[in-house]
Amino acid sequence: RAKQQGRNTWQLHTTAMNQHAAERLLMENHLRKALERREFLVYYQPKIDLMTGDLVGMEALVRWNHSIWGLVSPAKFIPVAEDSGLIQPIGEWVLRTACDQTKRWQDAGLPPMRIAVNLSAHQVEQANLVETVQSILQETGLEPRYLELELTESILMQNTETVNMTLRRLRDMGISIAIDDFGTGYSSLSYLHRFPITCLKIDQSFVRRIEGNGDRTDGVIAKAVIALAHNLDLEVVAEGVEEKSQMQFLRDEGCSLAQGFLFSKPVPREEFEILLTKAGTTSYTESI
Ligand code: C2E
Ligand code: MG
Ligand code: MG
Ligand code: MG
Repeated sequence: RAKQQGRNTWQLHTTAMNQHAAERLLMENHLRKALERREFLVYYQPKIDLMTGDLVGMEALVRWNHSIWGLVSPAKFIPVAEDSGLIQPIGEWVLRTACDQTKRWQDAGLPPMRIAVNLSAHQVEQANLVETVQSILQETGLEPRYLELELTESILMQNTETVNMTLRRLRDMGISIAIDDFGTGYSSLSYLHRFPITCLKIDQSFVRRIEGNGDRTDGVIAKAVIALAHNLDLEVVAEGVEEKSQMQFLRDEGCSLAQGFLFSKPVPREEFEILLTKAGTTSYTESI
């Protein structure tokens, strides 16, 4: 009887695994057609200067608007895109779209701002990444100083030398390099001065732990990252700021840049354009 039960459990387990695999395969098949069906969109999340309350930049975040499933979260489809190699054409499309849009806004006379674009490990390891970025900047006419590339710590830890050379070439062009989700990867800090990094983004999980109850021990990691960035002469951006108390804590600790729902969610192009039009006349921190 025990044996029987064990077998049933095993069957249940494999069925669930097969279902998971089938779902991924289905998603992969749909992802394959998504580019030509023009189902991807780029949303833009404002980056705020906490000292002045100004909008100072934005991050491009991809969205997949499937005809039946609706908006599919990047957390779901980016891993599938990575495993299937589809991240390369999708990532290139996001980069081109984001650079093109940023240049169009500049040409329309809106205040010029830097756009941050996320890169996957596969893209950074691609031999021709630098050439791809170069040709996208050339095609769109965006100056390299208006582009920032975000990558995670784990990317730096694999293929260290190749990645380092790639990043140096990008940096030499005038492109900024940010470490996304900083503090969550398993890594030593020694890489920080070996790579040509310009910015650390404090992961949301550390921002979430900042409480407004006066007990500031919960903010120790955020505080440590801010101090580290200052000492290394890097920019520092807090991600996922949702509470006023978090904003105040970060500002007190000298973190001058932030993103989060407290200021704005990522928004579609048309909505971000309105935010750009109001830049300089609206404060994101005063009304909170
Ligand atoms: P990320 O680059 O760390 O982006 C931040 C994520 O946090 C975004 O989720 C954003 O919508 C969300 N967020 C921003 N502020 C808040 C907040 O106050 N509270 C909460 N709870 N969340 C907030 P999203 O857009 O779903 O993207 C998830 C991840 O997918 C990104 O994390 C990034 O790693 C990846 N991703 C998104 N777009 C791209 C892309 O074009 N290429 C690649 N390779 N990865 C992308
Ligand atoms: Mg990011
Ligand atoms: Mg992040
Ligand atoms: Mg992330």
